[in-house]
Amino acid sequence: MSNEKSETVLIIEDEKKISDVVAMYLDREGFRTEVAETGEKALNLLQEPFDLIVLDLMLPDMPGEELCKIIRERSDVPIIMLTAKSGEEDRIKGLGIGADDYVVKPFSPRELAARVKAQIRRTKKMAKRVQSFNGGLLTMDTENYEVKRKGVPVVLTTTEFRILAALAEKPGRVLSRLQLINMVQGYDFEGYDRTIDAHVKNLRHKIEEDPRNPIFVRTVYGVGYKFTGTPDAD
Ligand code: CA
Repeated sequence: MSNEKSETVLIIEDEKKISDVVAMYLDREGFRTEVAETGEKALNLLQEPFDLIVLDLMLPDMPGEELCKIIRERSDVPIIMLTAKSGEEDRIKGLGIGADDYVVKPFSPRELAARVKAQIRRTKKMAKRVQSFNGGLLTMDTENYEVKRKGVPVVLTTTEFRILAALAEKPGRVLSRLQLINMVQGYDFEGYDRTIDAHVKNLRHKIEEDPRNPIFVRTVYGVGYKFTGTPDAD
C-alpha cells in the first residue's frame, strides 16, 4: 500500500465553467480531482473516500445544505462550500451544517486552492498518531503498531491490530465481518467470517478486562462488530 498517492478532491458543482477552473487550479497544486454535477452523482462517488470536498450550494437536484448534512452523517471529510449570495455566508455559519470553510462567488480560484491546501494540512495534523480511550485504559499508536492496556504494551498480531484500528477509527460504527475482511486484506489474511470471529476473540483476551463482557470491541448480533471505547480529549 502506497501513501504517496496524491490527495483527491471531489468538486460538486453543476456549472462546468466553474468546476473546470477549480479542477485546473487544484491539479496544478498536485491534487487529483473528480467532478460531480449533481448531488446524486456526488453520493455515488462518495462511496470511495475523498480527502476534501468542494461543494456548491446551488445544485440541480438537491440543496447543497442538504447534501452537506448527508455527507456529515457519514464522514468527517473537510468540506469547503461555494456560495453565490453573500447572505448565504450567515446561513452557513448560523446553521452549523458542517462545512469547514466557505468561499463566496465570484471567487479567486487561487484563493480557493490555498484554502483547500490549508484544510488538508490541518486535517493531517489532526489525524492523531496515538489515540487514547477510556481515560488512557487503552492506547493505540497507529504508526508503530503499538497497543497498551493500562500503559502496559499488549502484543497483537498484525491482523488483530488491523481489526482494532479499523473499528476504533469510528467508535460506535458497526462493521460487518465482510467489511472487516476487506479492510484487513492485503495483510496475509485468509478471509472467512469465522476467522474474523477467532481474531476478535483473541483480541478481546488481550485488550479487555473481562473478554466475556467486552467494553471495547462489542458484537452486534447478526451484523458484525463495533468499537465502544470512548476517545479521550487531548
Ligand atoms: Ca451551481
